[in-house]
Amino acid sequence: MSAILNRQAFLDRIETSVEEHAGAQASFVVLLVGIRGLHNFNVQLGYQTVDELLGRIPGLMRQKLPKANCIERIGDTCFAAIIPNVFATNLVELALERVANAVCGPFDIGERDVLLKANTAAAIYPAHAGNAPDLLVRAESALHTTRKQARKYHVYTASDTEHLYKQLEIEQSLRTAVQERTLELYYQPKIAIADRSICGCEALMRWDDPVHGRVSPEHFIPVAEQHGLIGTLTNWALQTAARELRNLPGRESHLPVAINVSPTTLFDPDLVFSIKTTLGIWNMPPQLLTLEITESVIMENPENCRAILASLKDLGVRISIDDFGTGFSSLAYFKNIPADKLKIDRSFVTRMTQSRSDSSIVQLIIDLAHRFDLKVVAEGVEDEPTLLALGAMGCDIAQGYYFSRAQPFGQLCAWMDQHQGNTS
Ligand code: C2E
Ligand code: CA
Ligand code: CA
Repeated sequence: MSAILNRQAFLDRIETSVEEHAGAQASFVVLLVGIRGLHNFNVQLGYQTVDELLGRIPGLMRQKLPKANCIERIGDTCFAAIIPNVFATNLVELALERVANAVCGPFDIGERDVLLKANTAAAIYPAHAGNAPDLLVRAESALHTTRKQARKYHVYTASDTEHLYKQLEIEQSLRTAVQERTLELYYQPKIAIADRSICGCEALMRWDDPVHGRVSPEHFIPVAEQHGLIGTLTNWALQTAARELRNLPGRESHLPVAINVSPTTLFDPDLVFSIKTTLGIWNMPPQLLTLEITESVIMENPENCRAILASLKDLGVRISIDDFGTGFSSLAYFKNIPADKLKIDRSFVTRMTQSRSDSSIVQLIIDLAHRFDLKVVAEGVEDEPTLLALGAMGCDIAQGYYFSRAQPFGQLCAWMDQHQGNTS
């Protein structure tokens, strides 16, 4: 394995460059290379081969950056360089493009050529920051922008860090929301397509922040994950759902409920314990609880997931694979994954009546799931034609705006009474 210089040691190198360039005419450049999508190669080629391949990257960077005085691996998939004495900062983009092209490969590995996906980014001293920590953070936020905007390379601009500050602001308010319990849990019903009866619901978090207004979970869940708040949030969702659904008025049997479990929570050693405790406290039969786990998590870490999912299944809870279809290359893993349901990603479902290829993918997933004895849920059902098409394809369960948006518990109860009245 190539030596990994840690982030702190690289910061020290930047610090030295700051001292050397202080008061000088010339600038220096902090350049980062990020490699993406390695998990597929880890599975296909093995970690050792992938690591050996990553070990070749500093050499390729050196060929394109002969002036660089420090080229290092500073993370699992991140490489960094410092280019001193730069006068023509307008040429930095050109250097970024050349490095990005060079580190992609192709690498010949045994019988085959391997191509990597790489992004490059840079921050320039003193134009973007006058000290080492800010320079590195700015280069990192520029690298983040390349991923978010699917760009090959990008030189830092102020809007890159605006995003970062916004995240910090959201993090602060989210902490307060957790403490003051101002989050809400909404429920979206799931419908059995065969008889249109209600067969469960999915719990989805809602947050009205006094300053930011309603913040989408697509924004605050990633922030919660990055700042160690997601465990608390998931536990809260679990407790709230178990408590509320137990109190469904006038119903003998409880309604099954699905909770979303994000990657960090899934790998949290306390998860099994807190689910077990919640089921015990609320006297909830385990088969009424489904955990939704996204396909991408399972794909990135199939071995670990298999073990964790197996211990969750031992509790008797159900597992559903969420957003299915977005990582299609991974079907082989599913033959050994202990799951009960596949949830087709809503991007395919919402387009299926217009797009032949989306409808073929939906049909393919349904057939495949049934072969593995999995039930299929289609999310994002927005109209009757989609529902009818799904029924004709043999899909089991539908969820979407056509029936109902997610709503607070009280409204869900009223909606269920009305729906049952309509269908019976
Ligand atoms: P998801 O798990 O894929 O949830 C489904 C999303 O699709 C929800 O968005 C839901 O409101 C939306 N949706 C449902 N039916 C339709 C439809 O017919 N058309 C369209 N266009 N959209 C529909 P929402 O509530 O904004 O949640 C977004 C994501 O945030 C969720 O995606 C999930 O990944 C995450 N999330 C939400 N609540 C939680 C939570 O409690 N824990 C965790 N870890 N993640 C959560
Ligand atoms: Ca979900
Ligand atoms: Ca989904």
